[in-house]
Amino acid sequence: MNKMTVRDIDVAGKKVLVRVDFNVPVDLKTGEITDDSRIRASLPTIKYLLERKASIILMSHFGRPKGKVVNDMRLAPVAKRLSQILKQPVKTTDDCIGPEVEKAVKALKPGDVLLLENLRFHAEEEAGDAGFAKALASLGDIYVNDAFGTSHRAHASISGIARYLPAVAGFLLEKEINTLGSLIEKPAHPFTALFGGAKVSDKVAVLKNIMKKVDCLLIGGGMAATFLKAQSYNVGTSLVETESVETAAGLLKEAKKSGVRILLPVDAVVADELNSESKAEVVAIDKIPPMKMIADIGPKTVALFSQELKRSKTVFWNGPMGVHEIPQFAKGTHALAKLIAGLKATTVVGGGSTAEVIDSMGLTDKVTFVSTGGGASLEFLGGDELPGVTALRDKK
Ligand code: ADP
Ligand code: MG
Repeated sequence: MNKMTVRDIDVAGKKVLVRVDFNVPVDLKTGEITDDSRIRASLPTIKYLLERKASIILMSHFGRPKGKVVNDMRLAPVAKRLSQILKQPVKTTDDCIGPEVEKAVKALKPGDVLLLENLRFHAEEEAGDAGFAKALASLGDIYVNDAFGTSHRAHASISGIARYLPAVAGFLLEKEINTLGSLIEKPAHPFTALFGGAKVSDKVAVLKNIMKKVDCLLIGGGMAATFLKAQSYNVGTSLVETESVETAAGLLKEAKKSGVRILLPVDAVVADELNSESKAEVVAIDKIPPMKMIADIGPKTVALFSQELKRSKTVFWNGPMGVHEIPQFAKGTHALAKLIAGLKATTVVGGGSTAEVIDSMGLTDKVTFVSTGGGASLEFLGGDELPGVTALRDKK
């Protein structure tokens, strides 16, 4: 990576503002953090700064409060978990800017850790507002970006703030860029990308770029319905974004021209509704009943995709194959997760849900790398510049 990191700047005794991604999954009923890997992923940077007696001011977003204070989206539970992991207190504030925050920052001693309140309680954060970025910047001496998963967004705390402070990368950001970078620079072939999940329009756009790098694209999950529709299959009541159908059709055409193989499901698990009471039924892909929706890939598709993955030297996986949160629709996702974890290939997994699946199955150590970014890793792999990375200082 050609950007400066925390190693390249004197942090000793400084007030260091660190943008982290503490947008952890929580149990909606109890509010408990169900997976703290995003918190743990920021530890190398935090520990490095602590060892050098910096005062650390952490900033993060959490959930989608849309510019308003939402009590369920406060960061206090995250601060509590971080303090358990660090075995030292982590202070919190009720806001991320303002007089109370300034007072708390002033009181920080070397080696103290403070976590500011959810950045997205202010609409200015996602709008990339310069005044808000400046107010955040005024709290510290140095800015560190360690929030790879949000670095594809030109938000105030991601790219805006870098205009006002010396801005460098944290270790997580560095590792992400280096690992994903080597994937597109010199991947061992065959290179297969497996896509699924629900964010069709986001993902379809980056597929165009990724297609230039891979030999084979496997498409399952909610996304598959859009591609099937583009090939004039009836997909029943499956979620299809009309604008994306044309893009999908274009991609299929382009793939044919450039010799990239795109494989779609040949069978599917369908249901009336996507809830835990729904009955699952396997049908051939050209036999989807008009009142049913695709909830998972079927066993023949699992076999087809497995065959392709097994002969690959590089695999990138983003997006579950079905509604994996519901047991009867999780089989396709679990089968391919297991298979990918057992491959003797470079295997990189990205995406919030996908990373959760890998983690919950205890397979994190069995793949080469689990990216903490979903959209960010896709945009990077697609060859796009990430605003949060571009904004950092170049290495001398
Ligand atoms: P990631 O977080 O890994 O990037 P996405 O956010 O794109 O993945 O999508 C994850 C979601 O996609 C999951 O909540 C899952 O239930 C949903 N999903 C997967 N397959 C389907 C489908 N066939 N229909 C509806 N939703 C689906
Ligand atoms: Mg997701």
